[in-house]
Amino acid sequence: MTMARYDYNAVVIGAGSAGLMVAAGAAGLGARVALVERHKMGGDCLNYGCVPSKALLYSAKTAAVRRAGGAEPPPWAEVAANVRRAVDTIAPHDSVERFTELGVDVMLGGGRLTGPHEVEVDLNEGGTRRLAARSVVVATGSGPLVPDIPGLAEAGYVTNETVFTMPDRPRRLLVVGGGPIGVELGQAFAKLGSAVTLVEMGERILPRDDADAAALVREALERDGVRVVTGATVTRAEGGEGGKRAQLRHAGDGAAEEEVEVDEILMAAGRRLNVDALGLEAAGVRMDNGRPALNDRLQTSLPSVYACGDLAGPYLFTHMANQQARVVIQNALFPKKARMDYRVVPWATFTDPELAQVGLTEAAAEAQGIPYRVLRIPYAGVDRMVCDDATDGFLKVLTPPGRDDILGATMVGAHAGELIHELVLAMSKRLRLRDLAGTVHIYPTMAEIMRRAGDESRKAGFTPTLQRWVARYLRWHRR
Ligand SMILES: Cc1cc2nc3c(=O)[nH]c(=O)nc-3n(C[C@H](O)[C@H](O)[C@H](O)COP(=O)(O)OP(=O)(O)OC[C@H]3O[C@@H](n4cnc5c(N)ncnc54)[C@H](O)[C@@H]3O)c2cc1C
Repeated sequence: MTMARYDYNAVVIGAGSAGLMVAAGAAGLGARVALVERHKMGGDCLNYGCVPSKALLYSAKTAAVRRAGGAEPPPWAEVAANVRRAVDTIAPHDSVERFTELGVDVMLGGGRLTGPHEVEVDLNEGGTRRLAARSVVVATGSGPLVPDIPGLAEAGYVTNETVFTMPDRPRRLLVVGGGPIGVELGQAFAKLGSAVTLVEMGERILPRDDADAAALVREALERDGVRVVTGATVTRAEGGEGGKRAQLRHAGDGAAEEEVEVDEILMAAGRRLNVDALGLEAAGVRMDNGRPALNDRLQTSLPSVYACGDLAGPYLFTHMANQQARVVIQNALFPKKARMDYRVVPWATFTDPELAQVGLTEAAAEAQGIPYRVLRIPYAGVDRMVCDDATDGFLKVLTPPGRDDILGATMVGAHAGELIHELVLAMSKRLRLRDLAGTVHIYPTMAEIMRRAGDESRKAGFTPTLQRWVARYLRWHRR
């Protein structure tokens, strides 16, 4: 038997959604894998992202129902305990123990690429380890980006890394950033009873989403008591007796200034990639706009080094990290290479109402010069939505003019994040709207909205010429 040149088939740096998936998948295939994590197993999604935010939203939604009946907001300790329960319940799945059982060598420490096949680990317990691998996978994710606002550091602020473990719920909260993170958390705190001001520097919240759907979410936020301020930036912050003050500058000719007094500031103004101290450039990895330049096999300019998850981008979602991880497992271990396909990318913002998207938005179609027509089905036209008093919402499907292939879809309303999956499957299997129309949907369900979309598309295809032909035939049929 020949001596192995490398200790490992793959060394994975970062044990978040992407790294865990690569490590578990590769080990499951029998590969020797080392997984390096400098902080918490599970990364952002488990500890500071998807899981705690969705548990907080659940508490907030139930609190809002109780408050509507006259009850007091639940104590923050109860809410925080619910968030902790969710994280603690899922944590064993991502733990050192489980991964060790799967056959992965887990090392807690900071990993650094020192060559095309070498990783150096500064172990948290002290000392250094050098690992040699056939392939190296960097999956170090992202963290909160905090803009340099004068006085902010001194005044203090929270981010997604600290907001879930605050000692108390702020009575007044300023949320900086109107992307999915700011909007979800802002609405959650408003439902829990905080007076929330949400500031977004752009013209509207959720700028990557469909404008009509984002407008509906904004209305819902405002109904929940969130003051939404768009086109404004925070220019200064300061702490003081009884609270914190933030200076807002509104865009426009007048450039008006305003001071907002709050108890806490939540910074949700964007993400920065965890590339510092990773040694990518020094090891020879070509960078592109702050992230490693990748081909469609998720391979860097060093063919033995791959990237996935938030670090790889361009979509910062756990499900995309998982999808990329599947491609990386194949490519890092086997000669037959898989390619990453971004044709059908779904995402959801879990506000109340939820906003879900797959494929092209109208703005994206316009930007790419792709002609489209829009079919819009209001929630109000679906019996189950009426029964459940969930008529606030709509489904928009984009198809090429005169055809019923699906280019993209937006859904805003109750359970949109769940319901959109029928369209995700349809798009990924290249089904058409007529296939949805021809599929029996259980009555009365919310999912019937998909059949309705198919019916609408059929109706739109019933052109005046076709109508004339059918009328002629039916006249003949009556002879
Ligand atoms: C508040 C919030 C809510 C979110 N909600 C959703 C949601 O509902 N749905 C969804 O799909 N996505 C959501 N996301 C996004 C999702 O959390 C990320 O897309 C996902 O965690 C990315 O996974 P990752 O593995 O790339 O990175 P991460 O989860 O960030 O993991 C990277 C890991 O690498 C470690 N690391 C970094 N540098 C080094 C180093 N040099 N050596 C060793 N280890 C290192 C880090 O400590 C970390 O554990 C949310 C994010 C936030 C912040």
